[in-house]
Amino acid sequence: MTNRVRRHISIDEKLLFDQATGNRSSFELAPLDVDYPGADRLLPRELVREDVPHFPELNEVEVNRHFTRLSTYNYFIDLGLYPLGSCTMKYNPKINEKMARIPSFAEAHPLQLHENTQGCLRLMKHLEEMLLAVTGMAGATLQPLAGAHGEMTGMMLIRAALEARGNPRRTVLIPDSAHGTNPASAVLCGYDAITLKSNSKGCIDLAELREKLDENVACLMLTNPNTLGVFEENILEISRLVHENGSLIYMDGANFNAFMGIARPGEMGIDVMHLNLHKTFSTPHGGGGPGAGPVVVGEELLPFLPVPVIYEKADGELTLDYDRPASIGKVAGFYGNFGVLVRALTYMMRLGRDGIKAVAEHAVLNANYLRHHLQDVYHLEYGQPTMHEVVFDDRYQEEFGVSTMDIAKRLLEYGFHPPTVYFPLIVHGAMMIEPTETETKEELDAFIETMKQIAAEARANPAVFRQAPQALRTARLDETGAARTPILTWQQARES
Ligand SMILES: *Cc1c(COP(=O)(O)O)cnc(C)c1O
Repeated sequence: MTNRVRRHISIDEKLLFDQATGNRSSFELAPLDVDYPGADRLLPRELVREDVPHFPELNEVEVNRHFTRLSTYNYFIDLGLYPLGSCTMKYNPKINEKMARIPSFAEAHPLQLHENTQGCLRLMKHLEEMLLAVTGMAGATLQPLAGAHGEMTGMMLIRAALEARGNPRRTVLIPDSAHGTNPASAVLCGYDAITLKSNSKGCIDLAELREKLDENVACLMLTNPNTLGVFEENILEISRLVHENGSLIYMDGANFNAFMGIARPGEMGIDVMHLNLHKTFSTPHGGGGPGAGPVVVGEELLPFLPVPVIYEKADGELTLDYDRPASIGKVAGFYGNFGVLVRALTYMMRLGRDGIKAVAEHAVLNANYLRHHLQDVYHLEYGQPTMHEVVFDDRYQEEFGVSTMDIAKRLLEYGFHPPTVYFPLIVHGAMMIEPTETETKEELDAFIETMKQIAAEARANPAVFRQAPQALRTARLDETGAARTPILTWQQARES
């Protein structure tokens, strides 16, 4: 590392801000030279602060460098492999961004009359149709703003449909391999979440399902493939049992990249599912958003979809239908995160039917490639066929005192983002790896080599893990402290 680079890395941003005084400014405006009566009263007097807090004063160069430096603090998908399992951190084609920035999309106002926004409505209608085509479902809403929001919307639809049948019921069955948002969504909709234990294959245990299916069960909420990256091989039998019990099936479709274009949930008896456009359909989603969690439903749930529903009149004009008495209402402001919808449609149109199928095939192939090359050095708790992600654990490294967290930190030193760690909870010391379809064989090989090297180090020199990472801007963080007492705003240093 050159001294120059070292200097950039060692700049203390906080210090920079605290010292930033002295009449520096990032903009220069000529003084007002027109007579504008009342200019001094543009703001009501009670809103004008007498006592102005100290804000950092920086010139344009400093501000620019500050934010540019900050942008290099993080690892990001445009830098390298980001193998978080369950999160689908794939490379997002830049053409998506270009489309989302077309002024007639980016600047369309949600309150414009629908006569003026036929293009935007057509885009949403087209996206709905494509999502229905790949899922095999009957209707869609694009409103939900995230996967968890889609789950809540889906559960509201289930409650509405069961209420219409005469009894909303009381419980929701959820496998222990579920994403944490699943039970939360069920509870938010007034249900008690009941856990189903997975069997030794990591799947739903049919005997346990039969036993727990009673007249209280509103629905089974399952993720397929589940968070072990395992496909529920008994899905047809499962949906038969659930429907026989008068219950419905919710499928968490966040992992749909594993089989889209190959099999359709609608044909597996799924009643409602959400999709994560910001995972499967390529919108950048590091840092918490924006996302989109459209919900697709079968025939029975159609009347309850959120309003407005996009509706095509006989003459081809698109309009928004609010007149739906059984609807659960609105679940988001306006029509959802429109920019994400533009990106998703761009992605799907660019791929086409064959391309979408190829995404799933490559996602699964890549995960199996990693599994094949790493299963001798990292322990695999569940041996079922791997779909889009594979869950190893630290059992082989435990005896040397090296844990999953140590491995994750060491990976950072080698320039890779770590996988998802300690999830799913049913695997002790889990490392959940999802390579996605967008990585090359060379990148996967580099990751495999690094993981093998780390396994060798664990055996030969476990001490090297204690302080990892050393080579990065920040060493090992106090993760508990960061979560419990985060400092989220800049605070002026106290004068001593
Ligand atoms: C990511 C994910 C969710 C939640 O999606 P958000 O957009 O983060 O709310 C739900 N279920 C599964 C399986 C996921 O991977």
